[in-house]
Amino acid sequence: MGALRPLPYRVPLIDGESTGSYITRLAIRHGESVGHLLATVGEGKSAAEVDPRLSELYLNAAARQRLAALGGRPLAQLTRALASLRDEHLLPGRPETAEWKWPWRPHSGFLVRGCALCAARRGVFDTVWLIRPDPWHICVRHGRFHDTSRDDRMPFVDLSPGPHVVQAEHRRIHLVRRLGPVGRLLVADAFAVLAHPEGLLPRLGTSRTTPLRLLPAAIHLAHRMAGLERLRLDHRLVHSDYSRWLKKAQGDLGQRLSVALEHWSQLHKPLQLPPLPHCRAARVQVRDYRQPASPHLRAVPEMAPVNALTCLRWDVLARDRHPYG
Ligand SMILES: [Zn+2]
Repeated sequence: MGALRPLPYRVPLIDGESTGSYITRLAIRHGESVGHLLATVGEGKSAAEVDPRLSELYLNAAARQRLAALGGRPLAQLTRALASLRDEHLLPGRPETAEWKWPWRPHSGFLVRGCALCAARRGVFDTVWLIRPDPWHICVRHGRFHDTSRDDRMPFVDLSPGPHVVQAEHRRIHLVRRLGPVGRLLVADAFAVLAHPEGLLPRLGTSRTTPLRLLPAAIHLAHRMAGLERLRLDHRLVHSDYSRWLKKAQGDLGQRLSVALEHWSQLHKPLQLPPLPHCRAARVQVRDYRQPASPHLRAVPEMAPVNALTCLRWDVLARDRHPYG
């Protein structure tokens, strides 16, 4: 394939958009079919009629380079906005051949409708689909809840009657920004604690709006857990802190979650201290608490949903492949 010239019009980039959604907008803007544009990007396979609402488009490194050239964007800018173009999601393949694939389902993550008001602020009036680790997304700027529903009659749930949900989402974003991957793991653990059968709460995935109902409690709990987890990952947790924490959390969160909380805390016991000289140096210089440790995986995949991240395994999690929808 020869060198590519950029298309006449650049379309604005939307953070978190799926690659399929971006290329569809690029095609619409130029009055071309998506298939035609894809043929310019590289050789590929499509499971069916390509539809950004249903699945995600994946590229190899060479095709990614061509898409950046076609869209008239520096590669770094494109990969910052479009998560599926980041290295961990690239297709393997021969570096000299540009290749793409549009499978039946996303390899990981969910296609969630993007906020129309946020898109409009960027001058985009077509529907935008995001690729997200969980099947929902809350726009805190506009107080709107979006999910994987393709029903255009009700594209979002207005959260103005429930400001506490937007506030909980703000706190979730803050926690993840502060603690990095550990923040995501704790939010997943908090949802899993709420899913314990004795909690008698609805499970994520049982209805469209269950995340809204559970989010405030889950984030409250995740913040609680973060207090303990930071000490633990910094090797500063001692057994007396740990039993005090459990007692306080059980009192605060109600009897029904006692068993689940106890189970969680058993899995997050103080880490074995490293040899002393290293330990002293570590305390002074390194903040370890942003790095996951046992019982969690060290690497936290970008598109892993709640049930893949939590270390808790109740019966319900073992029975259903996708317990959270
Ligand atoms: Zn918005």
